[in-house]
Amino acid sequence: MTKKSIELYHNGLMTMNWERKYFSTPELDSVELVHNRCGKVFWPIMQSDYCNQDVVFIPGPGAGKDQRVTKTRRRSSSIQRDGLGKTLYRHLINLLGDRWTANLVALAFHGLKRFDDFHKELPVATNILADRLKLLVNEGIFCQRAYRQSPLRYEYHLTDKGQDLFSYFSTLLEWGDKWCQTGKGKPMLMHHLSCEQSLKTQVRCDQCGETLVATEVHFKL
Ligand SMILES: [Zn+2]
Ligand SMILES: [Zn+2]
Repeated sequence: MTKKSIELYHNGLMTMNWERKYFSTPELDSVELVHNRCGKVFWPIMQSDYCNQDVVFIPGPGAGKDQRVTKTRRRSSSIQRDGLGKTLYRHLINLLGDRWTANLVALAFHGLKRFDDFHKELPVATNILADRLKLLVNEGIFCQRAYRQSPLRYEYHLTDKGQDLFSYFSTLLEWGDKWCQTGKGKPMLMHHLSCEQSLKTQVRCDQCGETLVATEVHFKL
């Protein structure tokens, strides 16, 4: 396994975390990940490579807080047919497999909230933009908050479920920084508030703290 694919593996682990946290998928709920190194059933956690503290996304001062419970319990009959491989990231792929929704969530992490701001950044027709924003609200990734009454206008804020996608985007971003260099430097710099150092993440075993590599992990069904 190359270094390149190990880093993508971290993205996969954090994606699976997100799926398990927010969706009830019987096949996935019953899977346990075992870390061969320590022999324990574990849950992957994201930490800073520099200070070894957990990494969480903290919205800026203007973002506010969404109090809704966003856990959605859904059942699907199509899982048996699809098998575990396709089940792991099913909800995430449905959501972010579309380039516009993926871009909208990424822009929300940059602090964008309003229709016009999103539209300025993305070369997308307004009806499609409206449609994708509605989808992300329906899926509990964004919540709407009115910022003007007449005419009524909404801001779109990341919910807790949406903020939890940070690990998905940050692992992809780090991967891109390393393997898809344009020669112009990194497109985005991340800082860890706990230690004020630039952020490089590691995905680790919550039982022994070692960085996870695919060859040292197996599934227990
Ligand atoms: Zn730190
Ligand atoms: Zn371990």
